[in-house]
Amino acid sequence: MALIVQKYGGSSVADAESIKRVAKRIVDTRRAGHDVVVAVSAMGDTTDELLDLANEVAPIPAPRELDMLLSSGERISMALLAMAIHSMGFEARSFTGSQAGMITDSQHGAARIVDVTPVRLREALDEGAIVIVAGFQGFNRDTRDITTLGRGGSDTTAVALAAALNADVCEIYSDVDGIFTADPRVIPKAQKLDHVSSEEMLELAANGAKVLYIRAVEYARRHGVLIHARSTFSSAEGTYVLGEGMKNPREAEGAVMEEPIVAGVATDFSQAKITVAGVPDVPGKAAEIFKIVAKSGANVDMIVQNVSATGRTDISFTVPKADAAGALKALAGEQTEVGFQNLIHDDQIGKLSVVGAGMRTHSGVSATLFEALSAGGINIEMISTSEIRISVVLRDTDLTEAARIVHTAYGLDGDAEATVHAGTGR
Ligand code: ASP
Ligand code: MG
Repeated sequence: MALIVQKYGGSSVADAESIKRVAKRIVDTRRAGHDVVVAVSAMGDTTDELLDLANEVAPIPAPRELDMLLSSGERISMALLAMAIHSMGFEARSFTGSQAGMITDSQHGAARIVDVTPVRLREALDEGAIVIVAGFQGFNRDTRDITTLGRGGSDTTAVALAAALNADVCEIYSDVDGIFTADPRVIPKAQKLDHVSSEEMLELAANGAKVLYIRAVEYARRHGVLIHARSTFSSAEGTYVLGEGMKNPREAEGAVMEEPIVAGVATDFSQAKITVAGVPDVPGKAAEIFKIVAKSGANVDMIVQNVSATGRTDISFTVPKADAAGALKALAGEQTEVGFQNLIHDDQIGKLSVVGAGMRTHSGVSATLFEALSAGGINIEMISTSEIRISVVLRDTDLTEAARIVHTAYGLDGDAEATVHAGTGR
């Protein structure tokens, strides 16, 4: 008998029928003899609808009240799910985040979990109940207020519960079959991965893959939680996300796994490029520029500085599209102080990333990327690397084609087209 934590995303509990389907899946797990703790998201697009409502009554909704409002979405789905399980003859009890002991800091809308005290959950489990917990929310001890963890936060709730209860596995259910070598909607020949290391998953998630949230993967990595990302709509096994030193459960069953050099290709259309042109080529200018950008709240990703013979240089960097306007305004305000000549804003870029732990030990991985892009006649505008990732910035109109070419070049293409349930991965 195992203790299994399951997380169901909004698309898995979008209506009454779906809730009943999820209830059956939970009951089946219980019938197999396991203890089950479930973290559930709000039904369908509830969170977005609540956000829209809030914005209709107030241009800038008060953060405390916004969390009161948004946390109600998960309260609806948790109670309905518990009712559905009851009516199937099983004992189920739902708990809000604060009842479940999800203690966070006080930052409304982006709270971090600081402690989990699942006393009531343990009691309910000991009494033989299936436990349902509202995802995405917590409680701060100082303010005694309800908090939310940020969009997609239910993944983190599930992983934190799995860590606190020492669960055997944390199953994250969504409308896609697992983690793929690329987004199957962009690359139809993408294949489902049997497993991926948590460090690869972090790089993929940070560079555009949307199936799992970064914070949840980080939490799992830190606390040694085994994640199994799989689909609500099929019984097929999904993808295991393995932390350091973690054994693949399928290997324990005798399967032999080969380790590919490249785990996957991620695409990201969400970035914009800003070029600060004609910056005096003297010490301290980069520091000045990025201090201004940081103060505007923009999150800088890639940076490139060009060499220049004229005593002036261009510095280009990328930020999320939503942050670009703020960064530009902040920089324009300090133009004379910094002494640059002009600002160029370009939001028609795309970022392609190749991720694989095998890059540490294999040479020629980047050459394959550049050769493939060059053969495809695709121009590279920026390059950045980490130990296990190579990213390039391209024209956004080239990104999909580039991803296909690169996916093929690394031998990642599958024989059959991936099944896509028109899913969003949530
Ligand atoms: N309902 C929240 C959201 O849509 C949390 C989640 O789904 O994980 O962001
Ligand atoms: Mg949602």
